[in-house]
Amino acid sequence: MRRAIPGWELYERMIARMMADQIPTDYCVTPNARLTGRISQRSRQIDVLIDLRHDTDNSRRIIVDAKKRSRKIDVKDVEAFRGLMDDVAATHGYLVCPNGYTKAAERRAQSSVSIRLVPLDRLADFDPSTWPKCEAPKCKNGLVFWDGYPELTLRAKALSGPNEGRLVDLSYIHYVGKCDRCGRFHVKCLTCGEVLAPPETDESDSGHQCRCQLPWFWLASIEQDENGIQSAELHAVLLTLPEVKVITADRRALR
Ligand SMILES: [Zn+2]
Ligand SMILES: [Zn+2]
Repeated sequence: MRRAIPGWELYERMIARMMADQIPTDYCVTPNARLTGRISQRSRQIDVLIDLRHDTDNSRRIIVDAKKRSRKIDVKDVEAFRGLMDDVAATHGYLVCPNGYTKAAERRAQSSVSIRLVPLDRLADFDPSTWPKCEAPKCKNGLVFWDGYPELTLRAKALSGPNEGRLVDLSYIHYVGKCDRCGRFHVKCLTCGEVLAPPETDESDSGHQCRCQLPWFWLASIEQDENGIQSAELHAVLLTLPEVKVITADRRALR
């Protein structure tokens, strides 16, 4: 039986999916994020948070407000949203609405806010019930939101075929993402299909490897930028000996 998802939650999820499909891959997308406001010192809920993917760098933050409002967006909504942007140090914002906006709202948006109209009938083509369930033990109703597709390559000698005996690069594609409720990172290896869920809070965690047993593993940790803002990061650790290469594959801001 298909689990009923409240309409507003579905709209939020659809907008998160649309953003992840449209923005460049050097940005990562976190649905349903929570940040502590630098001015208010309060916990702020962010429908969709977009940060740089590969660096511990929060200087190009984008936030998205995707409320399922029944009325038009007006100037007060834009002002409240600009206040939220300021509080969480976002440089750009998207206000997404299903029912239009006033002329004054458009003027107040200026260049730092983009208002986008996404009608509710678009939900008809959107079905997140096929998304994998979160593997964190205590998570309730979390679904895994894939927002990155890193390809890891392995140089190997071809044993047969037209390149026999020569070195060839073999690519292994992965999905990376996070639970849209508890934020836990997930990695799916498309070669064997296994899903891994490395925790960022366990310092004794020594890494997670899929059944393919290739020379890399996945590890999550908590990192801090130069202003003391923390984020959880998912790393691919490549054992390309003699050196070890670490790629930040995904990030998620912490409160
Ligand atoms: Zn979860
Ligand atoms: Zn695998």
